[in-house]
Amino acid sequence: MTPLRGQFATIPHARATIAASFSPAFPMSGDTIFGKIIRKEIPANIVYEDDLCLAFTDVNPQAPTHILVIPKQPIPKLSDATAEDKELLGHLLLTVKQVADQAGLTENGYRVVINTGTDGGQTVFHLHLHLLGGRSLDWPPG
Ligand code: AMP
Repeated sequence: MTPLRGQFATIPHARATIAASFSPAFPMSGDTIFGKIIRKEIPANIVYEDDLCLAFTDVNPQAPTHILVIPKQPIPKLSDATAEDKELLGHLLLTVKQVADQAGLTENGYRVVINTGTDGGQTVFHLHLHLLGGRSLDWPPG
């Protein structure tokens, strides 16, 4: 898991062409706003990318560091994941760990959240892990 593209560097070509949205490189990216980010149809501050996942800063940050890690495969929500997704889910968690480390959060700690379904507060139905850090976080959540 090495292809980190520099600490919080914005990928300069985050705005891509319409043609890229049909790229066979991302045949499984779904029709949500996150699918558009995966296909580079809309800009995002991408901090990490590999063949399986993407990490970018949340547009409405709830902490000094708020990064979303998403699979390129559009699993709508955690409750839709199956045993076949075991390796991918592990990869997402290890990616969060790496991104958190890169963000300097390891020493003081951080929180990883997966909102799932309506009661879980999920608003974008493409599985994503919130990485929150940079301040002391309250518990329990609201
Ligand atoms: P959730 O409520 O768990 O589904 O989280 C969805 C998150 O996606 C929220 O924290 C939003 O602020 C974030 N979000 C929505 N659209 C974008 C976007 N275009 N770029 C970055 N983050 C986004």
